[in-house]
Amino acid sequence: MKTYRIATIPGDGIGKEVVPAGRQVLEALARSTQNFAFDFENFDWGADYYRQHGVMMPDDGLDAIRDKDAILFGSAGDPDVPDHITLWGLRLKICQGLDQYANVRPTRILPGIDGPLKRCEREDLNWVIVRENSEGEYSGVGGRVHQGHPIEAATDVSILTRAGVERIMRFAFKLAQSRPRKLLTVITKSNAQRHAMVMWDEVALEISKEFPDVKWDKELVDAATARMVNRPATLDTIVATNLHADILSDLAAALAGSLGIAPTGNIDPERRYPSMFEPIHGSAFDIMGKGLANPIGTFWSVAMLLEHLGEFEAAKRVMAAVEAVTADPSLHTGDLGGKATTAQVTAAVCAFVERVEAAAA
Ligand code: NAD
Ligand code: MN
Repeated sequence: MKTYRIATIPGDGIGKEVVPAGRQVLEALARSTQNFAFDFENFDWGADYYRQHGVMMPDDGLDAIRDKDAILFGSAGDPDVPDHITLWGLRLKICQGLDQYANVRPTRILPGIDGPLKRCEREDLNWVIVRENSEGEYSGVGGRVHQGHPIEAATDVSILTRAGVERIMRFAFKLAQSRPRKLLTVITKSNAQRHAMVMWDEVALEISKEFPDVKWDKELVDAATARMVNRPATLDTIVATNLHADILSDLAAALAGSLGIAPTGNIDPERRYPSMFEPIHGSAFDIMGKGLANPIGTFWSVAMLLEHLGEFEAAKRVMAAVEAVTADPSLHTGDLGGKATTAQVTAAVCAFVERVEAAAA
């Protein structure tokens, strides 16, 4: 029997509520199968750790998680600590340190979810957004001079490397090729950003030649927002830079019904390092500590984690449980207009997972 070593990093806010819920689902799976087990290690990194130690995670923290099979992450962000400290000190430190250069964000309207697009059939919206996760606008290159004086100046420089663009394009084309429609949209802004984004377009064209069976097109990022709303069925796999995809994927999550549902994986496609899975939402200060957080985004992330480990049956079982739960309005949390608690949704998903396995055995 295979034992997977999983690091859990709840972080801050509702991360501390949804990550334990995700772990419960993994434990329910493990209880009901002979095929695999999990060996969890929890890391209490985040804003509380920062208040005690002055850093979000220890300097040698990456060494503690480097050899795990996967990481389940919650959220970094605290009302009393500036966002650039929490983000750079934890989540980006892990993503960049473990070179998780492909951020993958599937979006579908799950059964029972009332999405805001009234002219859209549920099946029309089935996307996966690939976000370049290691450079671009979030390279961290830049600086400030004359701080506090009237002549103060500040830069955030976006860096794109040919190697970085090639690897994310190749990943996106491959992912598009693995999906039924074999359709990729490359998001760009090369009309206005006339250096790096032009190279981005050139590399897309070059890599496309390796994938003759993939249909692909280009769309400017601003036009892409309108296309997502007006013609969702014309999109399938989407690749974009770090910032562009960050914005498009929050729009995608909203169009699919709620930020609380959307999952993501920070993937090292070469598998040199563990990949990290997390709901895309943040710490949700307005509801933290109340047991009201929707754990579905975390459960979907758990399904992605299982797929990444090659446990496809288990991943399907978790998604079936998620869909059974979203289909039942009495199990909707507040963000979906319901009254259910995190604990109730979690119990329902765990019960479903174990029931399905019992039926199969
Ligand atoms: P947010 O995602 O925390 O919250 C936005 C809104 O969505 C809030 O009203 C919140 O209650 C609601 N919401 C989010 N997730 C929910 C869930 N699972 N169930 C029910 N409702 C949910 O975004 P924000 O308010 O912009 O950010 C708050 C903090 O989180 C900031 O510090 C920010 O930097 C951080 N953040 C971290 C990450 C991350 O670590 N990946 C991502 C986004 C934001
Ligand atoms: Mn974001």
